[in-house]
Amino acid sequence: MNADNCALARGLVSPSYVAQGAEALAKRQKLVKAVLSQRRLPQAGWDDATIELFIQEVALMDSNNFVDNVGVGEREARVACDLVARRHYRLAHGIGRSGDVGAEQPKAAGSSLLARLANLLVADALTRAGLADLGASTVLPLATGMALTLTLLALRPLRPAGARYVLWPRIDQKTCLKAIMSAGLEAVPLALALVGDELRTDLAALEAELRRLGPANVVAVVITTSCFAPRAADDIVAVARVCEAHDVGHVINNAYGVQSAALCKLVTAAWRRGRVDAVVQSTDKNFMVPVGGAVVAAGRRRPGLVAAVNKAYPGRASMAPLLDVLMTLLHWGAPGWAAALAAREQLFWYAQEALDAFATRHGERLLRTPGNPISLALTLDTLGSQVPPPVAFLGSMLFKRCVSGTRVVARGKAAVVAGHSFVGYGAHCDAYPHDYLTFAAALGTTRADVDAFVRRLEQCFAEFRARRASAGGAEG
Ligand SMILES: *Cc1c(COP(=O)(O)O)cnc(C)c1O
Repeated sequence: MNADNCALARGLVSPSYVAQGAEALAKRQKLVKAVLSQRRLPQAGWDDATIELFIQEVALMDSNNFVDNVGVGEREARVACDLVARRHYRLAHGIGRSGDVGAEQPKAAGSSLLARLANLLVADALTRAGLADLGASTVLPLATGMALTLTLLALRPLRPAGARYVLWPRIDQKTCLKAIMSAGLEAVPLALALVGDELRTDLAALEAELRRLGPANVVAVVITTSCFAPRAADDIVAVARVCEAHDVGHVINNAYGVQSAALCKLVTAAWRRGRVDAVVQSTDKNFMVPVGGAVVAAGRRRPGLVAAVNKAYPGRASMAPLLDVLMTLLHWGAPGWAAALAAREQLFWYAQEALDAFATRHGERLLRTPGNPISLALTLDTLGSQVPPPVAFLGSMLFKRCVSGTRVVARGKAAVVAGHSFVGYGAHCDAYPHDYLTFAAALGTTRADVDAFVRRLEQCFAEFRARRASAGGAEG
């Protein structure tokens, strides 16, 4: 209802009532205007009705939704099932053009606008989370692993011809290694250094390997920030300095690092003081949306790779992951996003205290991993023995009690991933001195989740010990 139609409505309904209704409509339009003009997170989160109104209106700017459109091409955003059309707010053209996923789509002014806005609001959200001096960023409809692959594919032609190695401080998550292999590059895993309980980047080994292979043969060093304890975030700033000194690429897997102020600060320091080509983060882990998107970002000193990634993307792309993030950021607004981040930081300390108390009750301890601001690891030393059940059984007991997201890491597991053989797989090193269980204080986790987890862990410990006793073990 625009002003003209409201004027006509005054002939049908009392003018004073129409005036009030029109004012209510104008209020929502003002919210839209503020976001379009400021291009930042709204000062207050939008209600669902405003989000729907905005998206539905903008969707009508796409050619497939024109009342008089005749589409005679092979791709005209035709959708057979109405449920599917509605699930996507009738947005069906996707985003980008064959030459650039960030380019405007001529048939879809509405989709192009939403994609642009999603990118701008995500950039603002990254900055608010602590990634200062952001130079460029792009939201891709690819999860983290595929976004890492595309980033490496975009980086490779910018490196000397023949460069094919990727130096990679070990992280035991298959995606990370497969992302390198799928880019047609050769991963060179580097062992971490055990310092106290914590696994850290072995900087000397990294530099030695860089010299041995020759920097011109190296496409990039790929490091990881957010990871399972007792692995710490890689030494981001030091690696950035090494990469700058040796003139090699540097890609940071920051999968769920945006939610940690400490990690954001380190990434910022790294791209200010050294070389960082790209930082890749998941949309689902950081923005609480369904799996399917990632953000590739770079700092002000070296923003160029982001555009290269957009250009490397072959073809048009789904806009669904961008729409999910856009709707979420409008829903949160600046205060909602800040509150979600603050709640997570507090939850980390809450969980640490709760697990510490649990450990003390059971003769275990929380591993000391100050370099990991999200994940915690609890030793399982009192459960280990030759008598069945094996420690790993604790994992299935938790799973059966509907606890998901914890990992029981028992020593001595061998694995072959993307052609590389590992021992002690799961622990990020060949021979970690403890079996342990990990827990993540991740965005969206609540105190009630922590409390319920600790209660169920108590039950599992008790049941585990009872089973062991009945199996004739010495330990109780
Ligand atoms: C989640 C995660 C991945 C995998 O990401 P996908 O989004 O599933 O591709 C890779 N690396 C790390 C460190 C992760 O936490």
